Amino acid sequence: MTSCIFCKIVAKEMPAKIVYEDDTSVAFLDINPQAPVHILVIPRKHFASAEETEEADAPVIGHLHRVAAKLAQEFKITDGYRIVLNTGRGAGQSVFHFHLHLLGGRIFHWPAG
Ligand code: 5GP
Ligand code: ZN
Repeated sequence: MTSCIFCKIVAKEMPAKIVYEDDTSVAFLDINPQAPVHILVIPRKHFASAEETEEADAPVIGHLHRVAAKLAQEFKITDGYRIVLNTGRGAGQSVFHFHLHLLGGRIFHWPAG
């Protein structure tokens, strides 16, 4: 999907501060951070949102969570961090390539806004 900005980041056609990558995932710093640590963890494969995933995507989605947990250790935010998956415009999703937000380094309130 060439019009997708996150696909372009995966393809290295667009710059990003990549902090981790492997065969199935890429993680990079959010351009507009909402916390001292704000990393996006995305699948290389394009699917628009959680709504578009299939059973076959489950291992990749699980892997993204493991990548986020490892990055939380690396970035020393294990005191308390938040993984956010905005799904649909009503929840604030603005980029329609599945991504986990890994946020840390500040206090988080509940319920989420
Ligand atoms: P969403 O609102 O879809 O859950 O999250 C999209 C996130 O992508 C936002 O936090 C936004 O700041 C980030 N973002 C949008 N465009 C770019 C970009 O070109 N580069 C990077 N690094 N982050 C982006
Ligand atoms: Zn994409």
